[in-house]
Amino acid sequence: MSTDRKWNFGAGPAMIPRPVLERAQQEFLNYNNSGLSLMELSHRSNTFEDLNNKTQNQLRQLLKIPSQYKIIFMQGGGHTQFAAVVYNLLAWRHHQNKQQGSGSGRWQDIPVDYVVTGSWSSKATEEAKRLGANVRVVCDAKPHFGSYKGIPAESTWTTSDPQGSLRTADHQAGQTPAYLYYCDNETVNGVEFPFIPSLQDPAVPLVCDMSSNILSRPVDISKFGVIYAGAQKNIGPAGVTVVIVREDLLQTSELTDGLSPVPLMLDFKTMVKNNSLYNTPPMFAIYISSLVFDWLLDPVAQRVQDGPQQPTNKDLVGVEAAVARNERKAAKLYKALEESRFCRIIVTDTAARSKMNIPFSISKAPKNDPNAFPNKAEDDAMEAAFVAQAEAKGLLQLAGHRSVGGVRASIYNAMPEEGVDVLIAFIKEFEQQYFL
Ligand code: PLP
Repeated sequence: MSTDRKWNFGAGPAMIPRPVLERAQQEFLNYNNSGLSLMELSHRSNTFEDLNNKTQNQLRQLLKIPSQYKIIFMQGGGHTQFAAVVYNLLAWRHHQNKQQGSGSGRWQDIPVDYVVTGSWSSKATEEAKRLGANVRVVCDAKPHFGSYKGIPAESTWTTSDPQGSLRTADHQAGQTPAYLYYCDNETVNGVEFPFIPSLQDPAVPLVCDMSSNILSRPVDISKFGVIYAGAQKNIGPAGVTVVIVREDLLQTSELTDGLSPVPLMLDFKTMVKNNSLYNTPPMFAIYISSLVFDWLLDPVAQRVQDGPQQPTNKDLVGVEAAVARNERKAAKLYKALEESRFCRIIVTDTAARSKMNIPFSISKAPKNDPNAFPNKAEDDAMEAAFVAQAEAKGLLQLAGHRSVGGVRASIYNAMPEEGVDVLIAFIKEFEQQYFL
């Protein structure tokens, strides 16, 4: 990488592939011979509509999204989806109940199930509660692991009662939950699901926040009701949020008793009906996302991203190219952290260690001595020195999330293996200063 670009290990907004930025720069003043910048075009122009459709089709191709799923580009980021899923899916379940003549008809009686495995699913749960939904936390990872350091087995969740009695009881009471919600990759805590939940009632759609690992590995879309992802980690710039929604979930009723109706800008049905052009969409963010998809689908660009050491991957594109590279990157970084004398990986459940966000703490206390007593002031100073020295070497944004502290390396698709190698070399070099 040339010296004018540094390595961005930030969790988001994250690194954008250099060839994407170069192409955007070339096209900045005159998009597609229109004589205007993309930002100046009408969102109702054929030129933009073509781009909007192309971007959707690219995503469909990359994630192998079946035809019964709709793709929407929304605004408001992940936080807005915390609310949007509550409104849309309660309105859908409410409609189902009315059709089947089951349930009391009050949306407050419809349960919504949440799996809490870290900061983001916890925030989504709080938002659902704030809106007055009947929230059931069916799994909370904190008591299992002391903090968010792993994913409890599905057999321990209260949805997955092996006898099915909980489900039957729900059905009888007309209280089938509107959805089961989880976050596939907890960006702050570095916990990533190694499985797709499968034991819940098949009548309950799975809703998943994939903001920080979408496109990093293949996913069977057919298992989900709704998937959403803010773009600013593994897709493109902040401003656009991708929503993938199963068509049948768009049948909704107007809710009464307070949560009525679904606000238009949160309404999946309105967005689908208008092909994401109900109002002025975040055009520039959609455009850059499309360039990122072009980059992922380009075999030459993917070979360059792999670097000269990986000739075996020369034919892979898209998610298949990304997953192979992401596994190599994460494996070598975890190994280096394990071998280091001062880095401690936070996530203890090894199967649930994220391949995208890798948090660790720093301590001079001997790692394998249970009686070693860490000196907090000394360790804090060491951590600050680590982040500052890394920055001076062009390794940016390694400080952990402000809510948990520590160090975190985010290594999304755009981070080449070379960037991870540079970080590993720095970890070894830093160690020399403290352990002679
Ligand atoms: N969900 C996940 C997994 C995230 O990582 C984030 C942000 O980092 C959010 C939701 C919130 O996204 P936004 O800042 O776009 O509202």
